[in-house]
Amino acid sequence: MSSEARLPGQLLVLSAPSGAGKTTLAHRFVDSTPGARFSVSATTRALRGTERDGVDYHFLSPEVFAARVVAGEFAEWAEVHGQFYGTLRSTVEAVLRDGGVALFDIDVQGGGQILDRWPAQTVSVLVLPPSPQELERRLRGRSTESDEAVRARLAAAQREVALAAARYRYVIVNDRLEDALERLRAVSRADRAERSGCPDIRAGSIAENCLRSRADLSPWLA
Ligand code: 5GP
Repeated sequence: MSSEARLPGQLLVLSAPSGAGKTTLAHRFVDSTPGARFSVSATTRALRGTERDGVDYHFLSPEVFAARVVAGEFAEWAEVHGQFYGTLRSTVEAVLRDGGVALFDIDVQGGGQILDRWPAQTVSVLVLPPSPQELERRLRGRSTESDEAVRARLAAAQREVALAAARYRYVIVNDRLEDALERLRAVSRADRAERSGCPDIRAGSIAENCLRSRADLSPWLA
């Protein structure tokens, strides 16, 4: 096992407005970090395109999802865009037991619930595009989005940032993918090294620059 894989278990919560490039960043992180894996969420939404049940999501009917909520099987759950999404408690328990990093690609409501339950083991990261103008440009570039849909997504982005600004510890601006990846790796590593009692000075200084308190969120909160 590499030294990185032996560091203490971490719940890495990654949230972002749609259009921030979070999915690509998350895949690059998992592929390049020993001991890191995706948390596979459950959802009531329909399977899309090439998605596979049990790989991309556990696709559940609303009835089964509700029964699992009642049975206490979710570590967190939330309604997002009219569908239900949730993280299985067993995923969280496995990473805390076995070590490694579980990456949660979840919305800010869910991230807040994970932070409430496992504050010491959770690292919360908000991924942002360089500016609201750049997000609008990216959304308009997707030929599938109508004018109304773009406006709705921009408003949703502002709500998401406002919520995250109250809770999340780190902000990573996804200007260049390689730079954003380096910062995310440093944020994750600095936390695990710190908790293992063996701080990583280089990762720690990169992570410090990503603290939310250092980010200028004003263009998003206007
Ligand atoms: P999509 O349907 O496009 O895959 O995801 C829609 C939104 O749901 C994204 O913002 C994603 O981060 C969020 N999401 C996915 N899984 C979960 C989950 O388990 N819990 C919560 N709270 N949000 C989730």
